Amino acid sequence: MTAENESKKTPLPPGMVLGPDGKPCKICTAFRNWKPQTSGNIESDGHNKSRGSGSRGQQSATTMMAALSGGTATTSITKTKVQPIRPDEPPPGCPPDSEQLGRATWTFLHTTAAYYPDKPTPKQRANMLALLHALPILYPCTWCAEDFGKDIAEHPPDVSSRTALSLWLCRRHNEVNEKLGKDKFNCNKVDERWKDGPADGSCE
Ligand SMILES: Cc1cc2nc3c(=O)[nH]c(=O)nc-3n(C[C@H](O)[C@H](O)[C@H](O)COP(=O)(O)OP(=O)(O)OC[C@H]3O[C@@H](n4cnc5c(N)ncnc54)[C@H](O)[C@@H]3O)c2cc1C
Repeated sequence: MTAENESKKTPLPPGMVLGPDGKPCKICTAFRNWKPQTSGNIESDGHNKSRGSGSRGQQSATTMMAALSGGTATTSITKTKVQPIRPDEPPPGCPPDSEQLGRATWTFLHTTAAYYPDKPTPKQRANMLALLHALPILYPCTWCAEDFGKDIAEHPPDVSSRTALSLWLCRRHNEVNEKLGKDKFNCNKVDERWKDGPADGSCE
């Protein structure tokens, strides 16, 4: 049975996202919705000792991942050797999940906008446009990329100056925040957040 057929038959665990190939998309999914076990519910012999519904959810997610990614559907849950610093994040040194990738990308984009020239040359404008227009094509979280592509088609990048670009990007990020049910960021504070730091000097 193909992964696609399997995915049509079995409801996906909450938060898990399928990629264009119909298989679970790791880079489109937050680690907390992907990880096969939670600390404290795994005995040293690798058996899940918890009887709670959360544990069942995790286990069914594991089964689903194995089935959809074309591996065996039998889950062998083994004790994790490296403990993550934050339980919701992949352990240090592991590939990023969708949230780490998002934070890193926003950090890069907002910081790049914060240091963009006040009066960019035609070459700088063209390169910034190329960078932004590459995201809907290359950003590995495909459904994020698709939505971002629609958003920038509706709101073309303003690369005319540092201030204009920072504001444009803040608004695009707020569109994503809104979609995810998060608070909107105050775009008047974009320089404080990404360039100058707060007036109280706490970042010095
Ligand atoms: C182009 C793009 C599209 C994405 N699309 C999706 C998607 O469709 N679905 C999905 O689940 N995830 C998406 N993500 C990831 C998502 O936006 C978050 O990065 C991720 O959920 C982690 O969120 P966070 O709360 O840690 O902070 P983030 O949203 O990553 O923000 C990092 C920091 O930026 C600051 N900040 C927040 N909002 C703004 C703003 N408007 N302007 C300036 N600074 C701000 C805050 O200080 C915040 O702590 C996308 C990421 C990118 C780069």
